[in-house]
Amino acid sequence: MIKVDKLIFNAFQENTYLVYDETSECLIIDPGCQDAYEQQELVDFIDEKKLKPVGQLYTHCHIDHIPGNAFVFKKYGLRPVMHKLSLPFFMRANEQSRMFGLDEIEIIEPEKFIAEGDKIKFGNSFLEVLYTPGHIDGHVCFANKNSKFVIVGDVLFRDSIGRTDLPTGDFDILESSIKDKLYTLGADFTVYPGHGVKTTIGHEMKNNPFVRI
Ligand SMILES: [Zn+2]
Repeated sequence: MIKVDKLIFNAFQENTYLVYDETSECLIIDPGCQDAYEQQELVDFIDEKKLKPVGQLYTHCHIDHIPGNAFVFKKYGLRPVMHKLSLPFFMRANEQSRMFGLDEIEIIEPEKFIAEGDKIKFGNSFLEVLYTPGHIDGHVCFANKNSKFVIVGDVLFRDSIGRTDLPTGDFDILESSIKDKLYTLGADFTVYPGHGVKTTIGHEMKNNPFVRI
């Protein structure tokens, strides 16, 4: 049985997800913890649930999704794992920091890259990688077809979609990612977005004002 829990971090109210199963092995997705207080909140949560982090994964590398990367590496010995096309954004993250007037962050070199169709193991379970560009190059989603959920970063939100006005954003590509990769999963899939509350594929297919079927 897989559980998906959420912590909300930094000025952008970014959702950091912890995904774990009955073995307590846990994936940390988009650690957005920005300061010592938020870092402690992450550690306290992991300690309280007795989780064992085994992976540090990224949906994409906008600045609000990555500030915790060096902390997770130092605390748990896990290097970042992302799509190859995310690397330039990740390595130049502090250009984004300066653009948004934020403190600079430390960057840890990724360990390996993931691509469409890859399976990321934890405990007795795995997440499948879906390549979903349009919000930013290198964006991936993480799906589990047994437990019927998908972690979608900034591709799809409840009644909304990701911005397409930032570098490498493109509405037509984003629309294809949503229709071809997410809506095809099935109406009963739970959707965990990078900001805001969870939703379902069925709700978005019917009600999303930007990409409807
Ligand atoms: Zn983003």
